[in-house]
Amino acid sequence: MNKYQYKDRDYINDILKNNKFTSKFYSTELKLLARHYRELGGSEEEIKNKLHEFCKNGMEKYNPAIHYRIINNAVSHGMNEHNKIVQIDNIVVSLPEINYIDRLDLPHEYKRVIFTLLVLQRLLKKYLEIKDGDIKSKEYYFGGYKNYRDLVSVAKISFDKRKKSKIKNIHDLVRLLHDKEIVEIANNGNIKLLFMYDIPSDDSEGIIVKDYNEIGYYYDLYHGENRVKKCESCGIPIKQSNNKKKYCNPCARNINIQKTVDNRKFKSSLK
Ligand SMILES: [Zn+2]
Repeated sequence: MNKYQYKDRDYINDILKNNKFTSKFYSTELKLLARHYRELGGSEEEIKNKLHEFCKNGMEKYNPAIHYRIINNAVSHGMNEHNKIVQIDNIVVSLPEINYIDRLDLPHEYKRVIFTLLVLQRLLKKYLEIKDGDIKSKEYYFGGYKNYRDLVSVAKISFDKRKKSKIKNIHDLVRLLHDKEIVEIANNGNIKLLFMYDIPSDDSEGIIVKDYNEIGYYYDLYHGENRVKKCESCGIPIKQSNNKKKYCNPCARNINIQKTVDNRKFKSSLK
């Protein structure tokens, strides 16, 4: 999953802080800026000027005669009220939900998949709620190639692919969950998350998921499983590949940059 998925506001803030493009995805970033300026009340003309200004500064070979196209595109995207800024800071999983998953007759790593399904489903629902302005369906369905791919990746599951293994991939696992009546496979390939209907609602905060690429590790951290601990700087769960690992990768990078700066300062103070 892209690190800015469901976090447009964070993406916009990083672009503005950087004051130039943060990636090669010029069109995506311009569209986000256009939405941002529209939400601030900018007119079409003002947004266009803002984007031209931004490109002048943020692009190495800026040429208005070439780039007016992606700018115009971004402006009309931004002026469309349906293109909202989506920012979902976190997803809360309640204590009854955790208890329900914990009590399932499944190995820990499959419970982690159920936990991840719950979080992803809630994310998708919130996303639609922000986009459409209301909740269209009270049903709990999950499906689609991309969502399955995300599920496997962020649930941190690896499958035993050997011949004798009964669960070689996510589809085998879904079939097992279907047999156990935790989910139901629908005709269109989607699955209905039966377990979501059984859990009493409650506003307790059992687990608060902030980083959607590490969803499965939040469940591990809660249970002290799988050598997962908290990053000592930002608190997101990390898998301890060795005993020395204290920080998540972004924090480790920042701390290293800071160390280099400090070293330089120290050395120049000696001169
Ligand atoms: Zn961190």
